[in-house]
Amino acid sequence: MDLCSVFINKILFPAMERFKGNHIRQYVNELAESENLSYSELNTLHVDKLRELLLHAIDNVPAYKQYKKYRQDIIDDPVSAIENFTPLTKAEFRKNPLSYIASGINPNSLISNATGGSTGQPTKFYIDRKCVEYYEAARYRGLSWHDIKIGDRCVMIWGAPIELNRTGLVKYKLKERLLKNRFAIPAYDLNPDSVKSIVGKINRFKPVYLYGYASSMYLLAMLMLERGVKFNFQLTAAVSTSEVLHDYQREAMENAFNCPVINEYGAKDGGIIAYECPNGGMHISSENLHLEVLDMITLKPVRTGESGLIAVTDLNNFSAPRIRYIVGDTVSVSRDACLCGRSLPILSKIDGREDDTFITTDGVLVHGHFVNHIARNLKGIDQFRCIQHTRRDIELIIVKGPDFDMKEIEFFVSEIKKKMGDVEVTLNYTSTIPPLSSGKIRYAIREFSLEGGEK
Ligand SMILES: [Zn+2]
Repeated sequence: MDLCSVFINKILFPAMERFKGNHIRQYVNELAESENLSYSELNTLHVDKLRELLLHAIDNVPAYKQYKKYRQDIIDDPVSAIENFTPLTKAEFRKNPLSYIASGINPNSLISNATGGSTGQPTKFYIDRKCVEYYEAARYRGLSWHDIKIGDRCVMIWGAPIELNRTGLVKYKLKERLLKNRFAIPAYDLNPDSVKSIVGKINRFKPVYLYGYASSMYLLAMLMLERGVKFNFQLTAAVSTSEVLHDYQREAMENAFNCPVINEYGAKDGGIIAYECPNGGMHISSENLHLEVLDMITLKPVRTGESGLIAVTDLNNFSAPRIRYIVGDTVSVSRDACLCGRSLPILSKIDGREDDTFITTDGVLVHGHFVNHIARNLKGIDQFRCIQHTRRDIELIIVKGPDFDMKEIEFFVSEIKKKMGDVEVTLNYTSTIPPLSSGKIRYAIREFSLEGGEK
């Protein structure tokens, strides 16, 4: 018996509910019920929540007062009326984030978060506690479809090491281990020499599931397959999050980990958007959010089934609503019902970005995060992008900062060569690095497919 899991379920969560007003388990139960509603009942619940949020926004949120003229349309048909609201890009949101906070709400009382600074332009946004608890509830609901419970033992395979001082790190690790029953392995530490000892650590901990970035878990899987290292226990699942999960990654993970791979689709600034069910359907958390797919150029809704930019309206964030917020990925919604019988609509395709993994001249996979780890200690670089055109051909694009120093660039290049092998690094300088068509700024891009051998 896993005592830590029992402690979390029987003591910690009930205590948090009692003393901190935590509602996660209540919300999980709510969501577990609503997924069994009929399609029309679920739709009614969704439309009612959307109407309530939009009416609240036009009355209380400075950025949305201009839409008061649509009050009657919102009352009659909120799903059509929302199309009168201009889709919200991150760039637009960044101009005045405070104008999205409802009147009477103190920003300090909210939970502020930011999308990755690694993408060059962090976006700071606000959510309230109810909203965060619904995110968590949607995650636990999705996990429950695969027999994974709150508090179950978990190993996280993360992209970056946690940035804390020594005491902070010890505290963090203790909290993770005892209160959350999990520990993290930075993908940054994964390499052919370390894989055996890392798998040994996981074998000793015997988690119920692995949780991490698709690219990081893929890297672990490939290293395990290459080195013939295996887990000595049965995992329930490996949960892939934050990045597009490619079929070849899923296949490698299933082979290496000997368990099903579950896809979680979420965004820091969009919550848990969709979760894969055991039948492979990516079910949208439609009780929590209103999802639209917009044409990439006109920003008008596309027809069901067509691919476009995902725009999300969180139905629980009354403190700081963002309406039709463009997350930055492209997706398409399916018309089909899922074989599992859940009424929640499904995403047929997610084309979001991937944090690319590079491949060295020796054929070793290296997570693209490593360039970010070098660059963030270099004071003279404002922005950068590292592109692997072929195995031996790397381009480093740099936006110089005021403290630019050529010695730092030489160091950067030598570190890349140290990791990547006998590669040619071409330097290019530019004044700005525009985002890709997905809207995201990526710092690591591999331009060729890993399928089919050397390029
Ligand atoms: Zn399903």
